[in-house]
Amino acid sequence: MYKTAVYNGAQSSSYAQDVLQMIKSKYPWEKEYIQAVEEILSSVGLLFDQEPLYQDERIMERIVEPERVLMFRVPWRDDAGSIQVNTGYRIGFNSALGPYKGGLRFHSSVTLSILKFLGFEQIFKNALTGLSLGGGKGGSDFNPRGKSNVEIENFCQSFMVGLYKHLGPDTDVPAGDIGVGAREIGYLFGYYKRLKNVFEGVLTGKGLDWGGSVIRPEATGYGAVYFAEEMLKTRGEGIEGKIAAVSGFGNVAWGVVKKVSELGGKVVTLSGPDGFIYDKDGVQGEKIEYMLAMRSSGRDRVKDYAEKFQVDFYPGKRPWGIKCDIAFPSACENEMDADDAGALVDNGCACVTECANMPLTLEAIDCLLHNKILYSPGKASNAGGVACSGFEMAQNSTKVKWTREEVDQRLKQVMIEIHRNCLEAAERYGEPGNYLSGANIAGFIKVADAMLDQGNT
Ligand code: GLU
Repeated sequence: MYKTAVYNGAQSSSYAQDVLQMIKSKYPWEKEYIQAVEEILSSVGLLFDQEPLYQDERIMERIVEPERVLMFRVPWRDDAGSIQVNTGYRIGFNSALGPYKGGLRFHSSVTLSILKFLGFEQIFKNALTGLSLGGGKGGSDFNPRGKSNVEIENFCQSFMVGLYKHLGPDTDVPAGDIGVGAREIGYLFGYYKRLKNVFEGVLTGKGLDWGGSVIRPEATGYGAVYFAEEMLKTRGEGIEGKIAAVSGFGNVAWGVVKKVSELGGKVVTLSGPDGFIYDKDGVQGEKIEYMLAMRSSGRDRVKDYAEKFQVDFYPGKRPWGIKCDIAFPSACENEMDADDAGALVDNGCACVTECANMPLTLEAIDCLLHNKILYSPGKASNAGGVACSGFEMAQNSTKVKWTREEVDQRLKQVMIEIHRNCLEAAERYGEPGNYLSGANIAGFIKVADAMLDQGNT
């Protein structure tokens, strides 16, 4: 279940209630999407009383309806020679701030409702980066796990046949998400180039030699650590000397581990679908290289890590019971519930930074806010990934390559700005220190005002 949000229920205007009701009666089966709308409305409802134009110009009714939704058949041939059929999707949710931008998710759980939920979140996340990025999301119910390379290539090519006519560097620029990494982006890009007869920056997360940006693989994790550092600074603290619990074992977790150890902190946990490991000496040095090798070969189990480095392995468990100063949930939706959050609070954890998309349940967030723990929502703290995608687009269109230092510096600057904007918005609208309200309000205002400027589109 995705979280429902009732944070500022009292501040929801009747306009917000009406729009929510409209969405509920129009799409009653889209429960994940309804909940995402509810979450935003619960924070931004108070704006409608202060700015009547939002209501007069029907901004909310427009924002909740995607500009376009593509749904297409993806037939592909498996290794046994049989034809398999999956469903492909691409949602162009909002282009007020720039071309549609957001990842592709290949996972058996993918439905239109889930992609609408993720795409809706993406609008505000992308707005927070301050870059010229609209919001989009796509994917398929295809699950790459256990498929051969040839099957994945066949699938990606067929997926691109369904999609290529609707993409373009100034129209819609997909990227990776769960189940879509460097390999899939390569297959998708190769086929786009062949179908369109043009080499252009139509996907991000590309290989370094063919249009990719340095730091893109690490960017989500690096950005989240920069964000955490900013949050800690508000209490006169920093990452140095801190113990961090991290979940996940993929790109995002890898970026977090690298940056935490670079800044003098120590990551003591990692997790996979098989359980979690506790490494009291810290995940550093060759262990980070090992993570990279596992990530590249698509393996996400952590038991091998435990065996290789002789550390504790807890099968089927989540890492939130381990004593830590900072937690970085970097695996998947709803991986931390209220009991987990309570355990972190009891163990003295001071800061929880969402690195995945919506890894905390509503109850977990409530628990942290109630206990005055620093908490940041993914749409703010994991925006470093899509920000770096924005940098990749800028490099592609100017045909110039930026150095590692330049990309890292810009990434850090974007995260500092997001942090400042969230705090300022939260303060201005009577929720000081509440990063969730701040992120929702700051992101919404940018999109809504651009829509007002652009008239009835
Ligand atoms: N899927 C990532 C996200 O959730 C990255 C999107 C992108 O780079 O376009 O933000």
